[in-house]
Amino acid sequence: MKKPVTVTVTGAAGNIGYALLFRIASGSMLGEDQPVKLNLLEIPQAVKAAEGTAMELNDAAFPLLAGVDIYDDATKAFAGCNYGLLVGARPRTKGMERADLLAANGGIFGPQGKAINDNAADDIKVLVVGNPANTNAFIAAASAPDVPAERFTAMMRLDHNRALSQLAQKTDSQVTDIEKMIVWGNHSADQYPDVSFATVNGKPAVDLVDEAWLDDYFVPTVAKRGAAIIEARGASSAASAASAAVDHMRSWALGTPEGDWTTIAGPSHGEYGVPEGLVYGMPCTCANGEYTVVEGLELSDKTQAQIAKNAQAAQAEIDEVKKLGLL
Ligand code: NDP
Repeated sequence: MKKPVTVTVTGAAGNIGYALLFRIASGSMLGEDQPVKLNLLEIPQAVKAAEGTAMELNDAAFPLLAGVDIYDDATKAFAGCNYGLLVGARPRTKGMERADLLAANGGIFGPQGKAINDNAADDIKVLVVGNPANTNAFIAAASAPDVPAERFTAMMRLDHNRALSQLAQKTDSQVTDIEKMIVWGNHSADQYPDVSFATVNGKPAVDLVDEAWLDDYFVPTVAKRGAAIIEARGASSAASAASAAVDHMRSWALGTPEGDWTTIAGPSHGEYGVPEGLVYGMPCTCANGEYTVVEGLELSDKTQAQIAKNAQAAQAEIDEVKKLGLL
């Protein structure tokens, strides 16, 4: 059996945290031969609830669970951390201005980035789930100058999975029949789910569905799925978000299948015209614990326009973060 790795989950007592921790402890994220030690980080008011979750984790008697600890101090929670899942964030409440939301989250992700910088293991990999995830990842990375910026990623995998599911339903196939889906951009209404390179059982997806379905149904359905779930369930998506976080980390740690890719938002190096440094969803392959952007794809004018529009909105958020002095 391998040596345990430390996985830190913030917002551990929340809805996503509750769905996520059991999947990590079961081996779904890092494989069934990898023991995990879980560090749960919460704000002081939620520590008691996190204790309840920890009791349940222990009661589940997962063979791979090497221990659970609860903290309200990021410095301690990230000590020796190999995998950080940053889920806890300040939600947007009614009437809240964007500047207030960014300031509140800057106050969370700045100190967490610094705690990671000073205390995490050298091989730390970070996934930010808490929204606005791309901007929060940017803030955390900027607060961790000793950690390569690429180690800070934001979650686009739920959007990617939603796109797979919609295309599978439309083409009467399974998600496992589909390769090379992309969702460009941010986890926001501006994202661009793109089937231009996708195949279904080896056939180009664009030959199986028409453009009107893509423009009028597929893109808006994927982009607005979160709102549709709130409308139907009366609560935000939690289990699917947790499942996507597990998928994101699993791909990063254990690799993507030959001939396929996934969507990861990491800091841009200027690929596809996205401003350098912007944390932005792009197609990526993963191998040996690293992810690499798939370069050289010939994009249509429409896709390029969508990327430019989305990148502009993401950049505006970063400019505001800088204006507010949050970095
Ligand atoms: P959830 O667990 O439901 O959501 C947590 C975060 O994930 C939110 O920012 C949410 O964004 C985001 N998210 C990303 N993708 C999705 C998606 N597809 N569907 C739904 N949410 C998504 O929130 P809870 O309020 O239940 O729990 C949050 C917990 O975090 C609380 O226990 C709180 O105490 C804790 N917290 C911990 C902090 C820390 O550890 N320092 C700091 C702040 C909070 P959105 O708001 O846009 O839905």
